[in-house]
Amino acid sequence: MSDPIKQVDAAVIGGGVIGCSIAWRLGQAGMRVVVIERGRVGGEASHAAGGMLAPLAEAERADDFFNLTVAGLAMYADFARELKESSGVDVEYRAEGTLYLALTEEDEEEIDRRCRWQHEAGLNVERLDASRALELEPLINPALRFALKYPGDHQVDNRRLMTALHAAALNAGVEFWPYTEARELLVESVSGQKRITGVATARGEVRARAVVVAAGSWSSLLRCDEPPRFEIEPVRGQMVAIEMPAPAVRHVIYSCRGYLVPRLSGFLIAGSTTERAGYDKRVTAGGVASIIERAIEITPSLANQTVTETWAGLRPHAPDDLPILGADPRVAGLIYATGHYRNGILLAPITARAISELIIKGESLINLAPFNVARFARHSGAG
Ligand SMILES: Cc1cc2nc3c(=O)[nH]c(=O)nc-3n(C[C@H](O)[C@H](O)[C@H](O)COP(=O)(O)OP(=O)(O)OC[C@H]3O[C@@H](n4cnc5c(N)ncnc54)[C@H](O)[C@@H]3O)c2cc1C
Repeated sequence: MSDPIKQVDAAVIGGGVIGCSIAWRLGQAGMRVVVIERGRVGGEASHAAGGMLAPLAEAERADDFFNLTVAGLAMYADFARELKESSGVDVEYRAEGTLYLALTEEDEEEIDRRCRWQHEAGLNVERLDASRALELEPLINPALRFALKYPGDHQVDNRRLMTALHAAALNAGVEFWPYTEARELLVESVSGQKRITGVATARGEVRARAVVVAAGSWSSLLRCDEPPRFEIEPVRGQMVAIEMPAPAVRHVIYSCRGYLVPRLSGFLIAGSTTERAGYDKRVTAGGVASIIERAIEITPSLANQTVTETWAGLRPHAPDDLPILGADPRVAGLIYATGHYRNGILLAPITARAISELIIKGESLINLAPFNVARFARHSGAG
C-alpha cells in the first residue's frame, strides 16, 4: 500500500555520491529532505568507482571543467574531516599523489606532450627519471622509461565514503526511501510559468518545492511533462581487485592503458574498461583479461597475486562529456546534478556545495553557467 502524500522542502532522486552529498548539505541547513533511491543507497557507480581524485592525471586542457575539478579537490580534505566528525567513518582520504608511467616509445611521446602543456599552464607536475620512480614505487615495471608525478592528485575509499555520507545525512535528519523508484516528475503550470511540485514514487507522492535529479546513468529516463533535452548514456567500467599487502604500493599509478589504486585494507584496484554496452553491468572475460594484462604491465609481480573481486558500474555520460549542474530554466524548482562521468567522486563536495546553495539561497558563488542544461537547447537550436 502507498504511503500518504509526503511534504518536504527538497526531494533528491538518487542515493549515489551526488544525491547523498547534496542531501547531507541540505539537511545540515535544517531543510526537510527525502532521498528516493531505487535500490541500495550507494549501490551503483559510486560503489563501483576507484576513488581517484585526479584532476591533473585526467586533464587534457585547462578549461572550465578542469577548473571545477581543481576547485573540487581543494575542498576534499575539509569534506573528509567533516564527514568523519558527522559519521564516525574515516573515508581514507590520502594525499600521496599519482604517478603516470611511460612504458613504451609511444607512451613517451604521449606523456611528453602531456607534461609540456601542463608545465606551460603552470600546473604542478614533476618529471621523474626511471630510477627515481622506482625508488618511490619499487614494484613498478623496471623497464619504464620515465614517469610524471602529480603531487596534487589524491584518493579516497569511495565505498567508505558512501557509508559515511549515508550516516552523516541520516544524522542531519535526512529521510531515505531506499528500494523505492521515482517514476515521474510532477510539474504544474501557473500563468504560463511551469514549476515542479514533487515526485511520484512507487511508495506514493513526495511534494517538494525543489527536486534534484541525481539519478546517475538513469537521469534522463524519468517521466515528465517537460522531458529533459539531454540524454545520459551509461558507459560501463569493469574493475578487478587484486590482493596486495599494504603499503607495498602507495601511489595511484597510471599507464596510458590502465591504472592501479592501492587500498589500505590490502588490495589494489585495477581498472578499467570504457564500454558502450547500454545498461548491461556484466563483468566479461574479455574485460577482465584486458584489465589484468594492463595491471601486470604496470606491476609485473601482480601475476602471482590472488584476484579477490570483480565488478562493473555505469558512468553517467552527457553528450559533451560535461556534468549537468543547476536549475532547469523551463521549470522552476527542477535542478539537475548528473552526468559526472569519470569524476563524480572527485566532484561530490563542490557539486553538493553549489547545488545546496542554489536551493537555499537561490544562487551560488560557484559558477555553474558552463554546466547548465540550457547548453543543450542552444546546441539543438531549440528555444
Ligand atoms: C569503474 C568506474 C570507476 C570510476 N572511478 C572514478 C574515480 O576514480 N574517481 C571519480 O571521481 N569517479 C570515478 N567514477 C565515476 C563515478 O563513480 C561517478 O561519476 C559517480 O559515482 C556518479 O555518482 P551519481 O550519484 O551521479 O551516480 P550513481 O552512484 O550511479 O547513483 C545514482 C543512483 O540513482 C538511483 N536511481 C536511478 N534511477 C532512479 C529512479 N528512477 N528512482 C530512484 N533512484 C534512481 C540509482 O539506483 C543509483 O543508486 C568511476 C565510475 C566507474 C563505473
